[in-house]
Amino acid sequence: MEKIIELTAWTEENYGKKFWKCPRYAPKVSNGCKCFMWLSGYVKLLKQVGLVADEDAYEIGVKVKRPEPIAGTI
Ligand SMILES: [Zn+2]
Repeated sequence: MEKIIELTAWTEENYGKKFWKCPRYAPKVSNGCKCFMWLSGYVKLLKQVGLVADEDAYEIGVKVKRPEPIAGTI
């Protein structure tokens, strides 16, 4: 069994979103591991079962504010 790793996405659509995945994550490979979860998805589960309140979800770090682009010229 592999240890899950925590990473942060920096893509345009998922900027600053944390996620967990298996080091062997390879969803397109037939016998590859499909273990992957967004932190936000996990928090959603916790909310569904009543372990986390809405206001706490924010503090867990689901939302990361995207920094303003630096204005200026080169
Ligand atoms: Zn795995």
